[in-house]
Amino acid sequence: MLGILGGTFDPIHFGHLRPALEVMEHLRLDEVRFVPCRIPPHRRTPVASVEHRLAMVERAVHGQPGFVVDRRELDRDGPSYSVDTLESLRAELGNDTPLCLMMGMDAFAGLPSWHRWEEILKLAHIVVAHRPGSPASHDLGDWATEAATRDLNELRARPAGAVWFQPVTQLDISATAIRAMLRRGESPRYLMPSSVLDYIRAQGLYLDASPTQGAATRFA
Ligand code: ATP
Repeated sequence: MLGILGGTFDPIHFGHLRPALEVMEHLRLDEVRFVPCRIPPHRRTPVASVEHRLAMVERAVHGQPGFVVDRRELDRDGPSYSVDTLESLRAELGNDTPLCLMMGMDAFAGLPSWHRWEEILKLAHIVVAHRPGSPASHDLGDWATEAATRDLNELRARPAGAVWFQPVTQLDISATAIRAMLRRGESPRYLMPSSVLDYIRAQGLYLDASPTQGAATRFA
């Protein structure tokens, strides 16, 4: 069983990494694929280039068994739709492997606005980690309640179609807040891996509010 965590990762922080590890261990996932998006469909253009965001994710997962960086969205033109990513993973892995699309509760609350969202559940399970400040699961639609399961064996027995709510350590960390700290000259140390912070400092990222910092050449 495989986990997939898509995101802007602008920059990656412990609010991404710690829940991912807890989900991996609790669900006994073989691996978690971190999939940085090239163009996020639902949010504004990332501040750092895809090249920098990828480099930060690579540094963040380095040394953690089971954490893998998957760059397929960076090589694809147009908006990075999760449904396309799942279809491409299915084409590679076949229809039998259970896939778990992982996301925070804030992302899950917006799921019905995603491109071809109903097809997502045909391709994968959805694993939702609660995130500080996001709605509780009972505020979500009937479809989520119907698809929700508490039976881990059901997740493992079916390749797709279930929703799983996973309690995780609540870390009120956001990429937006980290970028704001860096702009103000404050340190986001202990909110993210030091290897990522070292990279940000070395590359001079997030020092001003201008969009897309760094050469986007490699994946443009
Ligand atoms: P921002 O802070 O600007 O909102 P973000 O970190 O939420 O950025 P992404 O990098 O796109 O943006 O997030 C990727 C995924 O990680 C999303 O599914 C999001 O819900 C989840 N996530 C991000 N931060 C946390 C957190 N602190 N706790 C749990 N999940 C999180």
